[in-house]
Amino acid sequence: MKYCRYCGGQLEDVAQVCVHCGAYVENRQSASSTSSEANKPNAGYNILAFFFPIVGLVLWAVWKSKYPLRAKEIGKWALIGFIVALTLNFLRFMSGGI
Ligand SMILES: [Zn+2]
Repeated sequence: MKYCRYCGGQLEDVAQVCVHCGAYVENRQSASSTSSEANKPNAGYNILAFFFPIVGLVLWAVWKSKYPLRAKEIGKWALIGFIVALTLNFLRFMSGGI
């Protein structure tokens, strides 16, 4: 069972169009991934990489040959997370917290 993202109505898994509001709803049946699907950046992992850059770095290394797009995205988030963490530590140091 899935739900229409526009009106929230309940839909059959195979439904392509919402029976309640008529909006086109993506068929997420293909979540059992094709390679191009797996290559798409994953928001959950990107957030993980942001908070734990080391995890992002490991995933980047694992993915870079297999899923270049995903790897690029998570690499970017790991870098941002790393810079933010570094900045926060620097600010804490500057304010005499250590
Ligand atoms: Zn709907």
